[in-house]
Amino acid sequence: MDSVQKDKNVEQIKDVLRQYLQEKGFRNTPERYTILEEIYSLDHHFNVDDLYLLMMQKKYHVSKATIYNTIEIFLDAGLIRKHQFGEKTLSTSSYEKSYFDKQHDHLVIYKRDSDKEIAEIIEFCDPRIQGIKQSIEDAFGVNINSHSLYFYGTKKD
Ligand SMILES: [Zn+2]
Repeated sequence: MDSVQKDKNVEQIKDVLRQYLQEKGFRNTPERYTILEEIYSLDHHFNVDDLYLLMMQKKYHVSKATIYNTIEIFLDAGLIRKHQFGEKTLSTSSYEKSYFDKQHDHLVIYKRDSDKEIAEIIEFCDPRIQGIKQSIEDAFGVNINSHSLYFYGTKKD
């Protein structure tokens, strides 16, 4: 993506946030926009600790409580998506930007010597899932608005 398009996208998500905050009557604080920009500059999943550290490294002082609170706002505004990648442990939540994203699902690969530690998360998009969704909608006469699918495994030899 070129930088002009990137700037356009940043302006667009900021508008979405601005409108959301206004509608909900929330405060229009600058740190919310800074956090949003930081998230949209990332190309991977993150958790609250990752984000907190990133902000610290950039000498942007914001409390963890603010990050948690802001994350909730972004979720509700449809700007990010939440994941619980750990299947076998109570792991912390991961998030990713979602506004411009195409639908994708996740393959969670555990370290071979540990069934708790995650080695890698791979994103994949399989058009057959769209087909399954379609036939479930037809069979049950419903509109499916979202879905959640995770595969868990370990690397083969
Ligand atoms: Zn993802």
